[in-house]
Amino acid sequence: MVKPLGLVVTCGCGGRGRVEPGATWSCPSCGRTYETADIPGDEYAAVASEVNRTKLRALAGFAVIAAVFVPLGFVLGAELWITGAVVLAVFYFAYGPKLKRDVRRIVGGLPRWTVREHDEGPTGT
Ligand SMILES: [Zn+2]
Repeated sequence: MVKPLGLVVTCGCGGRGRVEPGATWSCPSCGRTYETADIPGDEYAAVASEVNRTKLRALAGFAVIAAVFVPLGFVLGAELWITGAVVLAVFYFAYGPKLKRDVRRIVGGLPRWTVREHDEGPTGT
């Protein structure tokens, strides 16, 4: 199960908004609508799942640390939990920026999709 990423659509008038791929987005500033159905779903899903996998790896790291320190705390004393919390904090600060870089690299490798403006005839400016 892949959680879809929101797409960011930028309107000609400068309005921006997020939209799920395949949905129609209407600009909150000027009311123009844009179709996103042209975006290749497979390609998009591949990118979304790679981002999710990268985040899952980070979560797995947390889970491993917790799985080591929680039982140890029961066996050897609650001080171990404090050590565990410190290790988690170190992991978070060490891994967080790398995680952000990885996600940015994956998303930065996205092809640019052109979203077609939905033609509804004259809008009467
Ligand atoms: Zn607009």
